[in-house]
Parts: sequence; structure tokens; C-alpha cells
Amino acid sequence: MAARIINGNEVSQQMKDEMKDEVVGLKGKGVEPCLAVILVGDDPASKVYVSNKKKACEYIGIRSLETVLPADATTDQLLGVIDGYNKDKSVHGILCQLPLPKHIPETKILRSILPEKDVDCFHPYNVGLISIGEVRFLPCTPAGCLELIKRGGFTTSGADVVILGRSNIVGRPLSNMLDQRNMNATVMMCHTKTKNLKEKCLGADIIIAAMGQPEFLKGDMVKEGVVVIDVGINRVEAPGTERGWKLVGDVDFEAVKEKAAAITPVPGGVGPMTIAMLMKNTLTAAKEAHGLL
Ligand code: NDP
Repeated sequence: MAARIINGNEVSQQMKDEMKDEVVGLKGKGVEPCLAVILVGDDPASKVYVSNKKKACEYIGIRSLETVLPADATTDQLLGVIDGYNKDKSVHGILCQLPLPKHIPETKILRSILPEKDVDCFHPYNVGLISIGEVRFLPCTPAGCLELIKRGGFTTSGADVVILGRSNIVGRPLSNMLDQRNMNATVMMCHTKTKNLKEKCLGADIIIAAMGQPEFLKGDMVKEGVVVIDVGINRVEAPGTERGWKLVGDVDFEAVKEKAAAITPVPGGVGPMTIAMLMKNTLTAAKEAHGLL
């Protein structure tokens, strides 16, 4: 039986429409959610991401501010911009688009954002809150994965979940979130030193692949009825196509969809959810700042 495709474009649109309504209510209470985005340099991909974030803000009714610094901006200049947004009470969320130019220390920058405005959820304080089950914000890509599982009609409660990858932006926070009491999954987080990976995947009810390895998860590595969330975004050569390349995930979509109960495509799966979750965190920050939580 072929899998149900969980469509990230549809789910994220649904969420954005729900948030649009919520913002009308917040504005009625005198609260105008505001996200400040900082871009350093002129990396084309980063520009696209920033522009998509601004478009999403506009759609939902979130005010958006943007500061663009040149690629040779100093760490102090960037810290100065963040300090300004930290002090500005009308700004609820601050996002510094990554990657930063090599001469700027990413960790120092991300930690300079006030935890209550850290809508990317990269600050160790907010990461720590997740670990002890006292969530303020949820990291955007992991939260997007969980929302797709939930809105796809599946539960994590009691499920054996295999996460492929242990990065600080995807695998590890996912693991932290999934074994909390509100999710109740039993989690196995795998990496390059994991033994018998295929057997582990075959035992999983849910697999979340976040490795950056094109089409790594094959059909013979999953059991019938598994739910598969594919976070990977890999550009591979596609001779004969107009661009000469295409995007694929970490899952061999065609093979795995024959066995899975549900699967997310790439593109159009987890990708669009990341921005929706960022918007959600911005609303959370605005509500918290105004004592509405
Ligand atoms: P990282 O490179 O930071 O981490 C990859 C992880 O996968 C590591 O833990 C690594 O193990 C593990 N891994 C790699 N190869 C193997 C293998 N053969 N067997 C087992 N484990 C393996 O990647 P990210 O987490 O940043 O990103 C992962 C993917 O998700 C990328 O394709 C990225 O583009 C995509 N992504 C998509 C987003 C979205 O919005 N949809 C957002 C963020 C990322 P080890 O630790 O041992 O090295």
C-alpha cells in the first residue's frame, strides 16, 4: 500500500491562516507582534530565507524589521544591533540569519540575544528549558517535524522513534522534545558511529531523517506502516533537467513510500514548516511579553 503524503505546504498554510486570526485577536488587545531579522553579508540563499520570513510576517500580520550589515561588519557592530533590538520593547523576536561570515563568532552572537526574544530557540537557556520539560519556544525545524506527525494524524505516544542525526539544530533537540511527558516517545538518536543502523530503523514506528545524506534511507531499512519525516535537503545532479540538479531528501522517497503509512516529500515537507514555527514562536514571545500566556 502506498503511503499517505504529508504535505508541508498545506500544513504550514493552515498554520499561517490560524495565526493570522490569532494576530487579529492580539491586535484587538493592543499587542502588535514584531520580529526583527538581521542579515550580515549578501549570501544569496540567506537573502531568500530572509525574504521568505518577511513575506510570512506580512501574511500573518506580524510587523517585521530588518537590518542588513555588510559582509565585513565587525562583531561589535552586530552585537550593537542586537543590543538595540534587545532593549526595544516593541520588538518581540530577534533572528540573526545564519551562517555568519567566518570572522564573527556565531556562539557569542546567538547567546547575546535575550532568551525571551530568542525565537530560533538556539540560546542555551531555552535549550535547557526543553530538556527539563518547561518549554518556552520550540526550535523551528524539530517543531515542524512534530507538527507534521501530529497534523498527519499520528501520535508519538508509545512510539519507538529513530532519529537519524544528532546535530544541535535538528536531531538533538528532537530527541529532547520527543521523550518528554507530553510526547511520550521512546527515542533512539543515531549517528555515524551507531552500530546496526538498519536493524534499528527496521524496529522504528517513526523515523526522522536529518543527516544530509541523499536518499540514505532505503526501502529495505523500514518496516511496513512506518511514518517517515524527511528533514534532509540535498542538491544532486539531474542530467537532462533544465537546471541540471534537483533537491532530494535523506530518504529514498519512491522506495520507502511503498511501505510507509505516511511520508513527507522533499521539497514541500519539513522545509515550509520551519518558517511557520518561527512565526509561532514570535507570537509566543509577544504574548509572553504582554503577560498573555
Ligand atoms: P549535520 O551535518 O550538522 O548533522 C548530520 C548528522 O547526521 C550528524 O549527527 C551525523 O553523525 C549524522 N550522519 C551523517 N551521515 C551519517 C551516516 N551515514 N550514518 C549515520 N549518521 C550519519 O546536519 P544538520 O542536522 O544541520 O542537517 C541535516 C539535514 O537536514 C541536511 O540535509 C540539511 O540541509 C537539512 N536541514 C533542513 C532544514 C529544513 O528546514 N528542512 C533545517 C536544517 C537542516 P555524526 O554526528 O556522527 O557526524
